[in-house]
Amino acid sequence: MHVFVIPTQRFLACHVCEGLVFAQREIKMTTTGMTFFDLDWLNKSADGAICVRCGYVHTFMGNAHQWVPPEQVKEGDLPADPLAGTTPPGPVD
Ligand SMILES: [Zn+2]
Repeated sequence: MHVFVIPTQRFLACHVCEGLVFAQREIKMTTTGMTFFDLDWLNKSADGAICVRCGYVHTFMGNAHQWVPPEQVKEGDLPADPLAGTTPPGPVD
């Protein structure tokens, strides 16, 4: 999946390897003491966008990003991927 970032109106490129394909995973943001400071929204789950190439996890709170399936993305709308066409090792699991 690709991730479209609404404030920048651009697709997310991995901060580490500039990859454009991500897997989605819910990330629990449980913190202690936040209720006291009226910051309960910090306890909600975050949306993790995991770069399928290098494994770096980009973590989003709120709804300023959208998941977009590859078939709905025009090739020219994606940023350039400097490693496109190469096959570097993927993340270890
Ligand atoms: Zn990456």
